[in-house]
Amino acid sequence: MLAPNIGVLALQGAFREHKRLLSTVGANVTEVRLPQQLQGLSGLILPGGESTTIGNLMVEYGLVEAIQEFHAAGGAIFGTCAGAILLARTIHGTPPQSGVQPSLNLMDITVQRNAFGRQVDSFRTTLEISGFDSPFPAVFIRAPIIEAVGEGVDVLARHQGQIVLARSGNLMAGSFHPELTGDARIHQLFLSLCREPQRA
Ligand code: GLN
Repeated sequence: MLAPNIGVLALQGAFREHKRLLSTVGANVTEVRLPQQLQGLSGLILPGGESTTIGNLMVEYGLVEAIQEFHAAGGAIFGTCAGAILLARTIHGTPPQSGVQPSLNLMDITVQRNAFGRQVDSFRTTLEISGFDSPFPAVFIRAPIIEAVGEGVDVLARHQGQIVLARSGNLMAGSFHPELTGDARIHQLFLSLCREPQRA
């Protein structure tokens, strides 16, 4: 079977760690900074970082519409932390000085930014994830929570009752950083959502 072609949005944030982990599970990995780099990919990871910064750069490079079209053509997308914020239809808690928060507006979830507190409140824990036979180690860094999910969105994990991993079709959003602990099961799960592209 051919290795799937997966992109990692590489504008800002923790993209190198995702690349490394994707390579260990047999993906061909491309850094995406420009719309044409989405060609031929079956999946795209939006990493953690700073969602306002990443969003503004996405607007500047013409990536908002390009990623929406990529998804409309069948491309799978996994947003982690800031990336989950960028996927959400509704975003709460953007500081006023950050201005307008750009979003891809693709997944029917409502997120609350920085809901687990400030940088000093970052933490490591283990999560029970639906379909996994043992707990998953997760790092939360100024993480959002998924406050609400729309119809057709499956909740895959919670932390202290709050939704931290959800999936809708071939879209997945997680509050935490799954790329920092070396456990590749979530990346494998994402690969299973990636189909071959419907157009070359
Ligand atoms: N707090 C950041 C934001 O709102 C997300 C932090 C992260 O991605 N680790 O964009």
